[in-house]
Amino acid sequence: MGECAICERSVETTRHHLTPQNRKESLVARICAPCHRQIHAVFTNHELKQRFNTVADLKESEEMQKFASWIRKTNKDAVHVDESKHVRDWRE
Ligand SMILES: [Zn+2]
Ligand SMILES: [Zn+2]
Repeated sequence: MGECAICERSVETTRHHLTPQNRKESLVARICAPCHRQIHAVFTNHELKQRFNTVADLKESEEMQKFASWIRKTNKDAVHVDESKHVRDWRE
């Protein structure tokens, strides 16, 4: 158990590497599974590295604020998160 760095719920957390391309040296944030999935669904690794490489940046982003306020109201540990078109397009 722990506390999610994004939505601040006390739930099981996963490890998010703040700079995914450099996992060895990357700082790790404790983030619940739904928030974690959302991060990777709305941001590309490139964006994470360039613009959202701290917990504060992620937390303050509009995308994660919306998600966090929604998930705080649900009581779910597991939610389905669709990858955004933006991330899909970038990968192709
Ligand atoms: Zn969370
Ligand atoms: Zn991650």
